[in-house]
Amino acid sequence: MKSALVSAPRIVRSIAELRKEIRAFRLAAGPEATVGLVPTMGYLHEGHASLMRRSAKENGLTVLSIFVNPLQFGPNEDFERYPRDEKRDVAVAGEAGADLIFMPQVSEMYPRPPKTSVIVSGITERLCGASRPGHFDGVGIVVSKLLHIVEPDRAYFGLKDAQQVAVVTRMVEDLNMPVEIVPCPIVRDADGLALSSRNVYLSAEERKQALSLSQTLKLVPGWIEEGANASELTRRMRERIGEQPLADIDYVEALLYPDLVPPDADRPLKDVLKNDSVLVAVAVRFGQTRLIDNILLTAEKR
Ligand code: AMP
Repeated sequence: MKSALVSAPRIVRSIAELRKEIRAFRLAAGPEATVGLVPTMGYLHEGHASLMRRSAKENGLTVLSIFVNPLQFGPNEDFERYPRDEKRDVAVAGEAGADLIFMPQVSEMYPRPPKTSVIVSGITERLCGASRPGHFDGVGIVVSKLLHIVEPDRAYFGLKDAQQVAVVTRMVEDLNMPVEIVPCPIVRDADGLALSSRNVYLSAEERKQALSLSQTLKLVPGWIEEGANASELTRRMRERIGEQPLADIDYVEALLYPDLVPPDADRPLKDVLKNDSVLVAVAVRFGQTRLIDNILLTAEKR
């Protein structure tokens, strides 16, 4: 726990300076003190703030990273127009309890194009891994770099990006990285829309129709209770979301979590859930904006 006194976070732009700050903290705070890392792409909202608050509660030092990582964007994606607002981000981060904000330039993170790849197989084959080729390779390298730079005790990730949580958790396990990955619940607007930096792109009408995602996901437990298997469930979901004229569905899938493989096709999901967790995930385009949302149903027996 750190003191409740709020002080402005320190902005750090170089890896060397960040390492110096963290080393100084560890020296001063002693061996019991822990460091939490919250990796983001900025344009912060309550979802990001919830991760920082959790880290600030559990660690002596919270490092927020803000880096729009070009390697995780495809050639026709929104890297260039990804929203940025440094001043506001610093204010949000301070309120949420971040101590250090690491905001590197692309040239600091990638002085040369990396020749090393961090590829997590299997888990990346479906969902966003299928619709955004190369995306998780970009995530793998940037998260590895951040974990090596900061050497945190814990790193906080939102279940809004449940596939990312699964990928990063497995990468850390496979590579024996000495960090605990802490999954955090999805934060939503009062009307149910999952918070996302990309929500600012939505027109009023698109935003209204985008509510169909969370509204449909809310129906999932009831449909499973009625005995739906994965294909019945996803058919119903597609039908429901498809009622919105502006919705262009990318995927609707129900997969075992965290391995992200399909459950037995004919098996009612309520039977599957006796032993396995199930992720029901959607990605839908509204105009230029691709939104994702999901519900993670945990196994009865763990
Ligand atoms: P991003 O800036 O979109 O890369 O997100 C940075 C981190 O914040 C990721 O771990 C996300 O999963 C998490 N995050 C984004 N939106 C939300 C949300 N609505 N609720 C909880 N976590 C979120």
